[in-house]
Amino acid sequence: QATPCATLNHPDLWRVPGARIDPDAHKHSRGRLCVLAGGRGATGAARLAARAGQIGGAGFVTVLSGQGALNEIASSSESLVARQYEADAPFGDVLEDHRASAAVMGPGAGIGPRLKAQVRSACGLKIPLVLDADALSVFEDAPDALFESLHADCVLTPHGGEFARLFPDLTETAHAGNKIERTREAARRCGAVVVFKGADTVIAAPDGEAWVNVHASARLATAGTGDVLAGLIGAFLAQGAPAHEAACAAVYVHGDAGRRLGPGGTADTVLAQLPQALDAVSQAQFR
Ligand code: AMP
Ligand code: MG
Repeated sequence: QATPCATLNHPDLWRVPGARIDPDAHKHSRGRLCVLAGGRGATGAARLAARAGQIGGAGFVTVLSGQGALNEIASSSESLVARQYEADAPFGDVLEDHRASAAVMGPGAGIGPRLKAQVRSACGLKIPLVLDADALSVFEDAPDALFESLHADCVLTPHGGEFARLFPDLTETAHAGNKIERTREAARRCGAVVVFKGADTVIAAPDGEAWVNVHASARLATAGTGDVLAGLIGAFLAQGAPAHEAACAAVYVHGDAGRRLGPGGTADTVLAQLPQALDAVSQAQFR
């Protein structure tokens, strides 16, 4: 029996942040998003997230990387700002220096003790965070201690495999509940919004509220689309949306972009479809 929960199919359920831009806006007032990148040759995922952050309306997107990857990032887009960070500087301080209004950590970041320290340091601030991909692996050992550092403005975006590694007792085989119940329990346990991705993405907030999205397409089942979603959530967080609204809006818009893909669609074409998806969704909301 299905647990009652809202389906993301009505414009009243969520807002697309930034659909209406303040006439007095300037780039810094529209949200400053920082995206953590990996080393040379491992920047593609971070770039997809950063581009989605820009398209999603963040006014100023900075990709933070080590020296070796700066050129690779800077040459990928004229409008992306790439900045070096010193690997041993506390990452929270780096985010504060950049006056980040939100950060995306994980896509292409590279698993290791350095990332663990960066995630810990960032969680110590009250800056809204998207933790995806490699940043989720940080929580696999001693999850309870790390979950304590999370706050209600953090959004975790695991796919099925990542969810199972984070919450081994909440997998389909280990737990009697359906996906909605298991996502709710995960969100409650870690005190953050959990976006459990897949053909039917479930979003749950720590207070037990949950949503399911079926407005998507199996064409999204291709590498890099999750990085685009992480960046889009980051864009909405940077513009001040509460974490559950940012997650719901981004999942729906991302799904809408997926539905616009034809044969041969890739994460790059999802990016290319995002403006139309944003436009269609915000038109529906302000009609
Ligand atoms: P990731 O696995 O991190 O690259 O994320 C993949 C993205 O594509 C997530 O947003 C999933 O919800 C979405 N996705 C993957 N497979 C499907 C599917 N069969 N139908 C709809 N969306 C999907
Ligand atoms: Mg992923």
